[in-house]
Amino acid sequence: MLTSPMTPKKPESAPSAERSRIMRAVRSVNTRPEMTVRRLLHAMGYRYRLHRRDLPGAPDIVFPGRRKLIFVHGCFWHGHDCARGARAPAANADYWRSKIARNVARDADHLAALRLAGWDVLIVWECQLKVRERPALTALLRDFLEDATTPVDAPPATAPAALPE
Ligand code: ZN
Repeated sequence: MLTSPMTPKKPESAPSAERSRIMRAVRSVNTRPEMTVRRLLHAMGYRYRLHRRDLPGAPDIVFPGRRKLIFVHGCFWHGHDCARGARAPAANADYWRSKIARNVARDADHLAALRLAGWDVLIVWECQLKVRERPALTALLRDFLEDATTPVDAPPATAPAALPE
């Protein structure tokens, strides 16, 4: 019988330590998607604070004077409703599904707490960072930062913002 090193011997209930380490590294701060947004904002002339640990969810990019902040979310980790977000690993599917469901629930809690505290929140998704989407993203960021009210996870600028409650 042939045995290949590429063939897993048996299904695992949780990812290996090595895979966990890699996944943690992928999630860590200063991810490439976040850096893309930061560079873009910087080029647009905006200045910001990073990773305010005192705020729910330690938002990636914070504009204290404007009372606005931005999360840059990986589509997989944060369960985005897009092709990339739906791409679940074949191995340990249940493990990842429940982990991501917890992330989504936690994100919703953070969002609610931030809005309650009077912050405007924009979520920029990884799938919005493609080079061909750059003009749309630039417009989205500018609208978010310059408008008085902006919906969370905003569609492009034409939709009217929700009235404050
Ligand atoms: Zn996405």
